[in-house]
Amino acid sequence: MIRVTCRVSSHTMPPTGIAPLESLPAVSTGTGDGSAPLAPSPPVNEPAAPDRNTAPAPMVVDAQTDQLLVARRLGTAAGLFMALRCKYSPTADHALQVALMCSAWAQELGVSAEERETIEIAALLHDLWLIGVPDRILHKPAGLDAEEVEVLRQCRRAGGDMLRASGAAASLLQTVDCTAAWFDGSYSEGRPVGHEIPRGARMIAIVEAFQSMTTDRIFRPACSKERALAELVRCAGTQFDPELVEQFADLAMRDQSQLYRQQATRWLQELPSQPVHALWSHDWSVPDATNMHVAAYFQAKILDNTRDCVVLVDPALHVIGWNRRTEQLTGIVAESIIGRVWTPEIVTLRDVEGRLVDQRRCPLRRAVATCLQALDRYSFTTCRGGRITVDVQTIPVLNQKGALLGAAMLMRDVSSERSLQELCENLHTRATKDPLTGAANRSELEHVQAQLLDDYRKHGTPVSVMICDLDHFKAINDRFGHQAGDEVLVKTAAVLQDHARPGDLVARYGGEEFVLVCAACGIAAATRRAELIRDRLSEVEHWALGGRCATASIGVTQAQPGDTVDTLLRRADRALYQAKNAGRNQVIQLGGGATDEEPVRRWAFWKRGGTQRAEALVEQDMLVPGPLKFVWEKLRGFVADQQAAVTETREGTLELALSSLLPTQRCKGDLSCTFLVTIQFSAGCSAVEHPGGAATGEPEEIRLHVKVAVDKLPAHARREILARAREITASFRAYLMARTVSPLAPDVLLQQNQSLLLPAWTPK
Ligand code: GH3
Ligand code: MG
Ligand code: MG
Repeated sequence: MIRVTCRVSSHTMPPTGIAPLESLPAVSTGTGDGSAPLAPSPPVNEPAAPDRNTAPAPMVVDAQTDQLLVARRLGTAAGLFMALRCKYSPTADHALQVALMCSAWAQELGVSAEERETIEIAALLHDLWLIGVPDRILHKPAGLDAEEVEVLRQCRRAGGDMLRASGAAASLLQTVDCTAAWFDGSYSEGRPVGHEIPRGARMIAIVEAFQSMTTDRIFRPACSKERALAELVRCAGTQFDPELVEQFADLAMRDQSQLYRQQATRWLQELPSQPVHALWSHDWSVPDATNMHVAAYFQAKILDNTRDCVVLVDPALHVIGWNRRTEQLTGIVAESIIGRVWTPEIVTLRDVEGRLVDQRRCPLRRAVATCLQALDRYSFTTCRGGRITVDVQTIPVLNQKGALLGAAMLMRDVSSERSLQELCENLHTRATKDPLTGAANRSELEHVQAQLLDDYRKHGTPVSVMICDLDHFKAINDRFGHQAGDEVLVKTAAVLQDHARPGDLVARYGGEEFVLVCAACGIAAATRRAELIRDRLSEVEHWALGGRCATASIGVTQAQPGDTVDTLLRRADRALYQAKNAGRNQVIQLGGGATDEEPVRRWAFWKRGGTQRAEALVEQDMLVPGPLKFVWEKLRGFVADQQAAVTETREGTLELALSSLLPTQRCKGDLSCTFLVTIQFSAGCSAVEHPGGAATGEPEEIRLHVKVAVDKLPAHARREILARAREITASFRAYLMARTVSPLAPDVLLQQNQSLLLPAWTPK
């Protein structure tokens, strides 16, 4: 069987013995009997005479005609062909034969004159790259090693450069380059596949293989046309375009010498004696960037100049690319690493935990094994001994048919980014955490609470807070020392953290006071959790206290309409105060009152404009379950938490003043204003209906007429002031657990309204 191996030159080079070469695939011919006798190797270091291993070069037509044909067809580029002939004349003859045969075939196929010209010229110059191949490789009878294969790869690239420098058009360059492309995409190295390969290149590949197999060599006789054809058929679909192989069969069986002469005659008749070729131009402007060679040049430039390390490996993890930046950082030059098997130990790659990455966990190996891209953070030691953090991106490289060619690894130095990130993290920690206990600090507490309150206002998601204050902590300090006190604080914070759920926040509120903000948690659940915490704290034995435990008191409350960060905390603080008063080591809850939506009743008094004093913004009638002393107590909670001042109590009327600092949108800074809340008390309807209740002075329901006004109403802050007035009204209603009712008609009011005698307001 005919041995199909890779080609250096299908015509001139003996089989290389490496089959297949990834880089230079193509049919080459053996002897036809499979034994492939090789030409004797020239002595090492002795320049091999080009003709030494081959039969005397047969002329295609005759020496003079051959020269004329080439001159007519190539014009000034005939010099390139002459250079090839000087290097190795059998290759030049082979090229002329292939060109004439392709020309005949193109004529039969009826291709355009333009395409035929490209095919003929490409056929003449398709082996031009052999000029650069060192004789020791060109004439080497044995197989090529990896280094020699790489040399051939570079020579092929250089061949393209020679053509380009001679002014070859892009279509010509591509056709020449693609003569090495396999139809099925194997060994393509980025070249087109299948019918995307220019037709001329597919034709030349077939003709040159056939021509080579059917030509005598000194080291093997030519095989018959039938056998050569059979070999082409065998390789149809993989190496060759199967349709073209079929079409070629007829041409293949013709008398070749006659065919050459016919075409030579046609060339001499048809081609101008002073050829002007569209395929050659000397335009030295910026070359077409779409040209694959130019693009490759750009890519090489980028690889050499990028600040990222780039390592390329083949599927067996042999290093095939190692850019300059990698050389600089690792101190390993490309020449010494190319061809070696890549292992992460080469650069002492470590993961983020600082563990050495072995071959098993190697990102490049994973890319090759899984064909998946990945991005991970690692670090490695540079040649200067420093350690840099790198983001490692691994990219498997597949050809158009999905066959794996290897993988690329890009390593980006992110050390500076990382240290900046760490700096930001540290700053954030310092800005938000209490250094002793690691709990959030007060500003973080306010921030989170404001967010959760916002969520409550917008979506009604409940939020509760508990303030936990260690009992008799001063005494602990006094007896066991400040350090022991600190230890208790740290452990208390840890217990609270243990009981926090995702979304909750543990903050240090003051010296020995902590706040647990319970997100999405109603007061009942928060109180149960507070009990668990209190219980747990009372069990924790402190080494610094000689094994004693420290207890805590906890006040719990839940956000209610109109709450601000301050009112919520003050209410929890009041609950805590009650827990302390009740004997400590207790949980007390406060609040959890009405949560119904605030009915909106806006009074557009502000429309009267100006800064008129005490403008009424909201007025509401409410019914509160009696008796009056309970209402009075609830009112105290509101007054305390809102830090209101009782400005007046007269018959049936209580007046409160509350100041607020409002952030305004349209002017810089906050606006301070005072809200006046006027509450008129009267016995509710039920008291009127049940005179008994009213008679005893203990109405079951009390009617309140609440009016919220403001001392000033500047035009730029109307919206904010009105919103705050509504908040105050809602808060008031929540504290008193009141329900809104429609205002009474004035005559009914006159008839039913019984003002209540209010007790004197004594601050608690
Ligand atoms: P009560 O049961 O009423 O809460 O009494 P108490 O002693 O716990 O409360 P008081 O407010 O009288 O004392 C709090 C003490 O907490 C006073 C202060 O020295 C101490 N303290 C505040 N911050 C720290 C701290 O960071 N470390 C230590 N060790 N003690 C602190
Ligand atoms: Mg305390
Ligand atoms: Mg305290």
